[in-house]
Amino acid sequence: MILRIPDYYEEFSCIASRCKDSCCAGWEIDIDEDSYAYYQSCEGAFGDRLRESMYVAEDGGYRFKLKGPKRCAMLNDNNLCDLYTALGEEALCEVCTEYPRFSLFYGNVEQKCLSLSCEEVGRILFERKTPVSLVDHEMPDFYDQGEEAEVFDEDEDRDYIAFMEQVQERAVHILQDRSRSLEERMCQFLSFCSSVQDITNHYQAKGNLKVLKLPPEHTGGMQWSRSFSYQDFCDRFAVFTGMEELDDEWVNTKKEFAELFHEDTYEPLVVEYLSSGDYREEDYEQLLVYFTFRYLMNAVYDYDLISYARLVIVATLVVRDMDVVRFRRNGGHFSTLDRIDTARIFSKEVEHSQGNADDLKEMCMMEEIASLEALSRQI
Ligand code: SF4
Repeated sequence: MILRIPDYYEEFSCIASRCKDSCCAGWEIDIDEDSYAYYQSCEGAFGDRLRESMYVAEDGGYRFKLKGPKRCAMLNDNNLCDLYTALGEEALCEVCTEYPRFSLFYGNVEQKCLSLSCEEVGRILFERKTPVSLVDHEMPDFYDQGEEAEVFDEDEDRDYIAFMEQVQERAVHILQDRSRSLEERMCQFLSFCSSVQDITNHYQAKGNLKVLKLPPEHTGGMQWSRSFSYQDFCDRFAVFTGMEELDDEWVNTKKEFAELFHEDTYEPLVVEYLSSGDYREEDYEQLLVYFTFRYLMNAVYDYDLISYARLVIVATLVVRDMDVVRFRRNGGHFSTLDRIDTARIFSKEVEHSQGNADDLKEMCMMEEIASLEALSRQI
């Protein structure tokens, strides 16, 4: 078993009460069945409090209740978890144990990343200046892969997985090629993924293993013609408008977009930000590579690499729109703290709701909205 992680993974540790945006506030926390059963069995006054703090949601799942300004009922005034204090770390439910880590399983690999919805992860990622790499660790046989891994393991196509591992590596290499502009890299990334999709389609149709070879390096990428049209923004953002709202910060983001972006303002605002000294290409490189780690390998399950590649670009463009608004709100400044914050708000809204993540993927499957041509003029 291989554990594949970004090289900053081990740097993370929760900053708990020092966290400005606790992950125990702003959204409801799901409780897995085993934890729910255990909490139900706890005795004494704390057991009573636990039972009063949980409820069965309409979908049949278990959740912690929220109190006050959307804070988990277990979170105390010092932003510390009373359940952790009373029963210990091992008593935390699955979501709280894992967060902000998330896993993707393929072949004999567990690929684990850290979510940008956690501000400490954002600090680690955006304060570093060097490119991120993926590191493999050979794990002992008794390493627990969890139930999810067992479910996925049965259906996998091992040859395609091995090919996709090379694809992920090359995709990251393209995005991190600092000898090229970010626009050039994004176009190259889309072109490369499009070629790989053709190979994948051929492989699927013919079942011919010999076609699973990476396209030659540095074949001409698509050309881009930056136009930053308001219509493209509206098309791109339409799906986000309809998403379930998980957090007030996202509601405010949408309000600010509506107030600031119009036919005659969108392009000048984007250009003003991109030409300012506070626009840092390397931040967007880290973001692109983060989304690539997060989504690209999902293609081993549905062979739809190109939609995940589009998703990587669309997500980055929406965060950039959020940055434009923040830059304007700050009177023409954008700091690393702003960088961490907008990525966090996006991730919290989109990456922690299966429904919202599915909506985004579906949009990226739609040629009329997320065609390569349309994306290449927006980057
Ligand atoms: S958001 Fe991150 S740093 Fe903050 S409390 Fe949660 S895990 Fe800890």
